[in-house]
Amino acid sequence: MDIKSKIKEKDITNLAQELIRIPSDEIAGEQEVCEYLSDILKSLGMKVRLQEVLPKRPNIIAEVLGGNNGKSIMFNGHIDTVPIGNIEKSIMFNGHIDTVPIGNIEKWNTDPYKAIIKDSKLFGRGATDMKGSIASMIIAIKYIMNNVENFNGKIIFTGVMAEETTGLGTQKVLEENIKTDMAIVGEPSDEKIYRAHKGTIWFNIFTYGKLEHSSESDTESNNAIINMMRLIEEINKISKELEGKNNSLVGHPSINVGLIEGGTKQNMIADSCKVSIDRRTLPEEEPNEILDELRVRFDNLRLIDNRLKFNIEKDTIREAVEVSESEPIVQEVKRAVNKILNINPIVSGMKATTDMSILVNQGNIPSVIYGPGFIKQAHTIDEFIEVERLVESSQVYAEVLLNILTNN
Ligand SMILES: [Zn+2]
Repeated sequence: MDIKSKIKEKDITNLAQELIRIPSDEIAGEQEVCEYLSDILKSLGMKVRLQEVLPKRPNIIAEVLGGNNGKSIMFNGHIDTVPIGNIEKSIMFNGHIDTVPIGNIEKWNTDPYKAIIKDSKLFGRGATDMKGSIASMIIAIKYIMNNVENFNGKIIFTGVMAEETTGLGTQKVLEENIKTDMAIVGEPSDEKIYRAHKGTIWFNIFTYGKLEHSSESDTESNNAIINMMRLIEEINKISKELEGKNNSLVGHPSINVGLIEGGTKQNMIADSCKVSIDRRTLPEEEPNEILDELRVRFDNLRLIDNRLKFNIEKDTIREAVEVSESEPIVQEVKRAVNKILNINPIVSGMKATTDMSILVNQGNIPSVIYGPGFIKQAHTIDEFIEVERLVESSQVYAEVLLNILTNN
């Protein structure tokens, strides 16, 4: 089966270009891109459905069972045999079909929705994150459907909404009770295979004070901003401590004070202050424990100064994740990269958070992140992907499918 000659650059770039030309940020929604994909996946012979998650914001779910593809109908009457000992496997490709917004279009040197190819690079919003990858996945599935007479098991493609904001799309996919043995999340993986990533805890801290005329202000005043400053000093100490922790796949955890708002006017003593925090977690850390420990540290400060009354409110938690190196999906992708690209890929962890954590932690589906391009190209002005990366990934995906679903 010659994957390299049959998976063609033009097929992938044509599809990726069409996908980029259909806006699907939070404002545009995913309906149109889903309908476009639906026609393509149906034409391949897959069973397709749109799962409406929010109004005009669906997921697309496509499945095909071995023996049900067009080829097997053509070979009707052929008595195929399933090799002895073969266990049917199912594999899911997961990719998000939403993108981040384009930002200020004036800053782009190329039209973010034109999807032009220049110097072997495809430019446009979603080129790297991750419509290019979606195209690579679909062309790999097409290759199997058109070239393998009979395969055992099942291919599932899930194009999910709202990954860039909430991860709601993949959560809803899991509610459909889809059974799969393994999954590949096609986020840009920096020419590595990621079997882990960090998590995020977003939360807010509130402090309080006593509203008074600013002319009354002295070190005895109860000023919410000064109180918050004391807590921020503690957070800074924690930040230093976190640098001393290490996970061999994803590095050290971190804490960032990203936003602060407080007070009313310069001639009033502030009676409230709020900061928004992004804490990046390791797979071995437990989000609720982290918040409990933080409360204890702040409580200890309050024992010394009872003005330091505070409140911590959880906002969004996306858990960190790690699967074992010995998981079949890790080994399969490793083997396929080795075969197609003739390199020994680095297996590591990703700093950013992805839908992999939902698949693994909530769905119990062993998963890896493997996809074309580099994360540093995501969310940028003049986002692009090298065409060669798309072709490589598509060939690797096809090789994974071929090996898992057939016995050659
Ligand atoms: Zn992404």
